[in-house]
Amino acid sequence: MAELKKRDTDNTTKRTPKAASTGAKADSKPKTKVDEDGRKVKEPKPSGNATGLRVGAVILWLLAIGFEVLCALILFGKINVTKDGAAWPGYIALGLDLVCVIIGSQLWKKANRIDPASSKNKVKFWLWNNMGLIVSIFAFVPLIVLLLAQKDKLDAKTRVIAIVAAVIALLIGGLASYDFNPVSQEGKTEAEAVIGDTVYWTQFGKVYHLDSDCQHIAKSDYYEGTVKEAIESNRERLCKTCAAKHPDITFTQDDVVEK
Ligand SMILES: [Zn+2]
Repeated sequence: MAELKKRDTDNTTKRTPKAASTGAKADSKPKTKVDEDGRKVKEPKPSGNATGLRVGAVILWLLAIGFEVLCALILFGKINVTKDGAAWPGYIALGLDLVCVIIGSQLWKKANRIDPASSKNKVKFWLWNNMGLIVSIFAFVPLIVLLLAQKDKLDAKTRVIAIVAAVIALLIGGLASYDFNPVSQEGKTEAEAVIGDTVYWTQFGKVYHLDSDCQHIAKSDYYEGTVKEAIESNRERLCKTCAAKHPDITFTQDDVVEK
């Protein structure tokens, strides 16, 4: 790995951002700089701790399953939250189920950016990247099956509303939890080793760039940071235009450059 060629920065078109604030105290590091085009250059937020994020995700997911059970108990009249045994508290429990699934999955995805699974262990890699989707299934499908099976234990209207709501929650939760750009430990390590230097990304961009004047970000304010910081900010891949402009940089892993 020591032979990996680092990006040659001497002849790139990278611009050096300069400090803009004139009134700032000499010893305080400015959080936002301005480059020579007048674009703001922002510092990325520090990343969290992967283990802490995973623990948080698991707690939220367990809560989600708890809300699913609560929802079923309320809808089937096993628990009466209101005096007349109304169904609406059940829908609130279903909503809380969805909220816990989505937040838990975002924490889990963030942990996978900070500490990705190795692609060499196929089972763990698949499991780690699909955990949010698996939890979404567990958080809604048993409830849907129960509602479909127990025809006589619920009035028809409540049953139909609950089934539709649970299916919508499954779709939203599944989409929000699915990891569309999983990162492998090998891909992240190679990107950090080969690219090495500073990279750039914008507020709403999905990828990171080698040059701050890449055509895709040339008119935007941008973040400036390391490859590690870019990936941990959910910019998992290198921009394909930037990659094509730097044919000297090549990668062995297929999850480094945008497809
Ligand atoms: Zn680019």
